[in-house]
Amino acid sequence: MDNIRELNERISQYENREKELEQMETRLRMAIDATQLGTWEYYPLTGELNWSEECKKIYGLPVNAGVTFEAFAEHIYPDDRDFVQKEIQKAMSPKGNNRYDITYRITRFDDGSVRWIKANGKVYLNDNKQPESFMGTVLDITDTKLTLEKLTRNEKLFKSIALSIPNSLIIVIDKNHRYITIEGDLMEKMGYNKKDYEGKHPLDISSPEQYEAAKHLYDRVLAGEKYSVERKSASGEDYMVHFVPLKDDKDEVEAGVIIAMDITDLKLAQEKSAKLAAIVESSDDAIISKTFDSIVTSWNESAQRTFGYTADEMIGDTILKLIPADRVEEEPQIIARLKKGERVEHFETKRVTKDGKLLDVSLTISPVKDVHGNVIGVSKIARDITEKKQEETRKNDFIAMVSHELKTPLTSMKSYIQVLLQKAKQDGDLFRINALTRADIQAKKMTLMIHDFLTMAKLEDGKVPLHKDIFELHPLVQEIVSDAQVLTSLHTIQLKDCPDVKLTADREKIGQVLTNLLSNAIKYSPKGGNITVGCNLLPGKKAKIYVRDEGVGINAEDQKRLFERFYRVKNDKLKTISGFGIGLYLVSEILSYHNSKIEVESEVGVGSTFYFILDIA
Ligand code: ADP
Repeated sequence: MDNIRELNERISQYENREKELEQMETRLRMAIDATQLGTWEYYPLTGELNWSEECKKIYGLPVNAGVTFEAFAEHIYPDDRDFVQKEIQKAMSPKGNNRYDITYRITRFDDGSVRWIKANGKVYLNDNKQPESFMGTVLDITDTKLTLEKLTRNEKLFKSIALSIPNSLIIVIDKNHRYITIEGDLMEKMGYNKKDYEGKHPLDISSPEQYEAAKHLYDRVLAGEKYSVERKSASGEDYMVHFVPLKDDKDEVEAGVIIAMDITDLKLAQEKSAKLAAIVESSDDAIISKTFDSIVTSWNESAQRTFGYTADEMIGDTILKLIPADRVEEEPQIIARLKKGERVEHFETKRVTKDGKLLDVSLTISPVKDVHGNVIGVSKIARDITEKKQEETRKNDFIAMVSHELKTPLTSMKSYIQVLLQKAKQDGDLFRINALTRADIQAKKMTLMIHDFLTMAKLEDGKVPLHKDIFELHPLVQEIVSDAQVLTSLHTIQLKDCPDVKLTADREKIGQVLTNLLSNAIKYSPKGGNITVGCNLLPGKKAKIYVRDEGVGINAEDQKRLFERFYRVKNDKLKTISGFGIGLYLVSEILSYHNSKIEVESEVGVGSTFYFILDIA
């Protein structure tokens, strides 16, 4: 009884085991099917070779066909035959570990095409240490192998791309976010090392948090999206990062390319030009740029307000639209100066608006240069000075009117003084002679002043009529010197070297020049001394006329500005000396009407010489 029970138990145990074995085999088969693994068994002692269905498929053999070791050996790619044979021998040798793991090429049985195979196997030895069975798997890895080759080729390509984009970094990631390639000059700058990255997963080299922050970006590119993001590094650099999916022949994403570029300089330049643009737009002055062909290239809001044209109407069109017909020759003259790299400042002229109104404008024009310093265009700032001009005209008119009105009463006052002085001299009344002489001097000074004001008002109006004549210089100088000598007892005025020269000039205006220079020489030598009015002949029929004093002198800085309208030297010692700062301005203007120029040589504390040169008639 017991024996039978025991037997039954054994049988059921055996049945269970067989079931388990069956299940295991099914599981193994499913796994093998899922991975497209082919299996094989070889019995070296008998020479028998069996291939599974999948294995036959890989080799291109019909499922029902048989196979021999010789046929297998023949279908190894010729170049790989020796190597495979050696590996088989090695695996079967009783000394080694009896394992077999190689990659080689085959030529398929059906179409002779070349495929890459990865084979694994194990040899089982019998008690006599002879190889009894050799079994294992094969897998067609041609596609993977080709992808790998392509990636290696691409790696070279990425390298050359990265090297030709300065300040860039190119990273290629595979579908598992592993870094395949990393290239570019930024790598060094950022302290990256190729070795630390290639073949590694982000988690191998950075914290889970860092990976988490970048993961979604990798996922997006690997899902086939092409996009860019801007990032700022901890040390303040700006980066533009482009993500580009890399697709295979079947249009499936096989890798992601990440291109990072340092755009810090670009950003700075952008910020700078944005700031500049804001300044230009908010400026009260019209700011225009144009090419040398006078084609407008930029036009700010103020330009629109001033001239009435919108940017759309002007950009691409000629600036000549703004220039009045009688001033068209101005443009080529200005362009010529700018081409030389010169700047034109405060050039006062007239321009015409869209509705035909004439404007007074002050132009400051500068050349625009490219990065190499080549002049490529022109920038122009135009300020509407119409109102300022009108204001000046009103002031001038007022000065002219007042001076004119003052002239008549002053003339009659002067004649009364003359008559009374004459009478006092006859009577020999010293007190009255003295008082009337002083009154006469003051009246003369006032006359000169009024005369200067009138001349200035006329100059501003552009109406200085020159009455050129031939006249002898000597009598004019003598007259002025004796008039001036009356004004002072502190100074000795000498007339020197003035030969018999005749000039072609406006006698009265040259007289005004000399009078001004002489009265300055007296005014600015408060301690007295010698004053010389002289004349030298120069080669080329020219005469140099000068007025020299031993007065306070003028420093170099002030010498440059003396001839500006209303310019007076600011100096405590000169505080008590009255004046308006128009004398030398008139001198300079009058001489320029005679194609001449006033010059000064002076030393502080020693004295000054003012001189000018005129043609001899
Ligand atoms: P004003 O004499 O009315 O100030 P000017 O135009 O004649 O105006 O002269 C301008 C300035 O030049 C004067 O304020 C003075 O400081 C300086 N200046 C002119 N002539 C002389 C001179 N002979 N010596 C020293 N300084 C002079």
